[in-house]
Amino acid sequence: MTGSTRTIVCGAGVIGSCIAYFLSRRGVEVLIVDKSDVASAASGKAGGFLARDWCDGTVTEQLCQVSFDLHQELADTLDGADAYGYRPMSAYSVAIPNATRGLRAAHEKETAWLSDGCFVRGKLGDIGNTAQVNPEQFTRAMLAGAVENGATLVHGTVNGVNTSKMSETITGVYIDGECVDAKNTVIAMGPWTADAERWMRLPGIDSIKGDSLVLRPRGKIPAHALFIDYETANGDWESPELFPRPDGTVYLCAESDTEPLAENPHAINASDGAGSRLLEVAGAVSPALRSITAEKVNGCHRPVAHDGLPVIGPAHNLKGAWVATGHGPWGILNAPGTALVMSELICDGVAKAIDLRAFSANRDLSDELHDEDLASEAS
Ligand SMILES: Cc1cc2nc3c(=O)[nH]c(=O)nc-3n(C[C@H](O)[C@H](O)[C@H](O)COP(=O)(O)OP(=O)(O)OC[C@H]3O[C@@H](n4cnc5c(N)ncnc54)[C@H](O)[C@@H]3O)c2cc1C
Repeated sequence: MTGSTRTIVCGAGVIGSCIAYFLSRRGVEVLIVDKSDVASAASGKAGGFLARDWCDGTVTEQLCQVSFDLHQELADTLDGADAYGYRPMSAYSVAIPNATRGLRAAHEKETAWLSDGCFVRGKLGDIGNTAQVNPEQFTRAMLAGAVENGATLVHGTVNGVNTSKMSETITGVYIDGECVDAKNTVIAMGPWTADAERWMRLPGIDSIKGDSLVLRPRGKIPAHALFIDYETANGDWESPELFPRPDGTVYLCAESDTEPLAENPHAINASDGAGSRLLEVAGAVSPALRSITAEKVNGCHRPVAHDGLPVIGPAHNLKGAWVATGHGPWGILNAPGTALVMSELICDGVAKAIDLRAFSANRDLSDELHDEDLASEAS
């Protein structure tokens, strides 16, 4: 044993940064390490949309509700509206067929900013149960809060773990080959958590790629999240999402073709043609979004376990090792609940806020699930 009381958090995405913040609030000595920059992967490229009850009736219901409420509390405490664009917003389901097809619009008055060919099918959420943050700014605010509470951020690649003689307990990690002692080690490396399968038993972690762009229209766009069914010129249907942000920009994203995960988040680019496809969607959504150059076009991978559920809790074959990943399309939403429950596990030895049984790192995920199952369960 090393005698160290430190907790090392591996990965400064939204999950690792929130865990560092919640642990540091409990007085834990935290070292957070990232091989790239804070929020340089999916956590800086996501939509940042939050929904309290969209997972009701599933095993993630409690995680989503606790997390949504924590987002509200954090925004109150940390001035989230100014610091990272937290705001309640409405959400609509919209269809954009390439011919009119007799669809009828609903909620026309509120959504008068949309094009004539855009059919509002219904309201999915309102200001009490749907909201947004700028995910990069939120992640950075959590990290900054952790550092203010005494945490240390280091840049480096975690490339191994050190264990006790019997290999039952983790006693530290190797950062760029140098051993750093720790009592607890949290693996929150997003889709790269798959690398940690060399060191500890984990359910299979994979990733799904998404592309996004950010536009800056001239006029003000209402706080309406849009979940769109878009028919392309050749009759295929796609499901892009659009989120106007309080800073005046508009974010759009869509799932992209499968692509292998690059080692460095900065080496991940948008797929070929993704920018122009998303610009075409923007133009079909509203005249206010036509003929604007994209400020940013990005690609990133969200982490998914083979059954589409998060992985949160102890790594069962290694004492002192913990894992928090696989949040799929809801990592920004579910980061605060994940972080709260991880801080309970590490500080109190028991998870109180959320029932973690379905998220066990020890669950059996054999290889019989195929790629199609992965895509459908994680979407
Ligand atoms: C297009 C798109 C839109 C999305 N929109 C939303 C949304 O609206 N709402 C929502 O709730 N969620 C959304 N998500 C999901 C969300 O982005 C992810 O679930 C979340 O960002 C995952 O966070 P993470 O911290 O687990 O991983 P990441 O953000 O991938 O962070 C992992 C970090 O670990 C670091 N790392 C990896 N390996 C090592 C190593 N060996 N040593 C040191 N550091 C390492 C990486 O550099 C990286 O910084 C979206 C995802 C995509 C792709």
